[in-house]
Amino acid sequence: MGQVRQKGKASAATRRKRRLRFYRTRLRELRMIAKALVSTKHPVLVHIIPMRRCNLDCGYCNEYDDVSKPVPLEEMKRRLDTLAGMGTSVITISGGEPLMHPDLDEIIRHIREHGMIAGLITNGFFLNKERIERLNDAGLEHLQISIDNATPDEVSKKSLKTLDGRLEMLSEWAEFQVNINSVLGSGVKNSEDALRIAHRALELGFTSTVGIIHDHDGQLKPLAEHDQGIFEEIMTLGKRSYSRFNQFQHNVAKGLEHDWKCRAGSRYLYICEDGLVHWCSQQRGYPGIPLAEYTVERRHREYSTHKGCAPRCTVSCVQQVGILDNWRSPQNLEPTPMAPAAKSDLVQIAK
Ligand code: SF4
Ligand code: SF4
Repeated sequence: MGQVRQKGKASAATRRKRRLRFYRTRLRELRMIAKALVSTKHPVLVHIIPMRRCNLDCGYCNEYDDVSKPVPLEEMKRRLDTLAGMGTSVITISGGEPLMHPDLDEIIRHIREHGMIAGLITNGFFLNKERIERLNDAGLEHLQISIDNATPDEVSKKSLKTLDGRLEMLSEWAEFQVNINSVLGSGVKNSEDALRIAHRALELGFTSTVGIIHDHDGQLKPLAEHDQGIFEEIMTLGKRSYSRFNQFQHNVAKGLEHDWKCRAGSRYLYICEDGLVHWCSQQRGYPGIPLAEYTVERRHREYSTHKGCAPRCTVSCVQQVGILDNWRSPQNLEPTPMAPAAKSDLVQIAK
């Protein structure tokens, strides 16, 4: 009689495939780092939004709506072709909720066909066995879910209680790497929840990170002393994961300014659903140039542009990319003045 598999436990075949995909992705990540150290001419990480719409309405979020339509597949492919032409290493699909996009699998496949690393940030609500297997087949390499609390409240439904069944499915069926991000900071009622989420992530074989909720400008707010202790404990738990690259987060937790060079607009790009390039999700509006017109000269300019928001920034993915170039040339250019017409569409303006 065949063995009954424990819920949330992957079969030997899935574990084998997962290991294989992990080593292949790691190899490509090492190549990506080597390429970034040799040359500054290409974007390392791009966040692309195929759909601004989200099924949830988290109280702290400024990155979603409940009306917009998915970007058509052909347009998404054109944007990905442009990014591949720039030599981009990693594309992370974000939102809104990207699992609501009807052609998400094709978008991931297209990223992989160009040899770029494919990641996805989702709230996880649409995951089930069939959806996870489709993501496996499309070639997804990284998936991140952010979980805000142990039980849902009026600020966020992204809770361990709501999502635990989906996490077990991921643990059982996903061949890609899964990272669970817990959060601390203003609006989080019970900071012990973050610790519980981190423990559960590791128990299921995932990596774990912790983010600090920023204000509506993506800027710094110190954690309360008790929360700082929890933060340090989660960072220690997550040592084997990405958190080792998150050393600057210790400063963020204490509300201290940090000294780094943000290379947004050059090594990191944020492409909104309208196909415009922005510095990051929290500085949407600048430079606000269509991707198809975003020249090599413009990328070089943004590489050397000083960002006044950098010392108090909490956007961790851009800071991780920044590590690759922190030792290089100073940033002595100022942002270019913006046309008043373009400003009317801004969500944030670079400070
Ligand atoms: S699930 Fe994500 S995109 Fe949607 S409202 Fe919440 S934080 Fe924003
Ligand atoms: S420092 Fe860079 S990543 Fe941080 S808010 Fe400013 S532009 Fe965005």
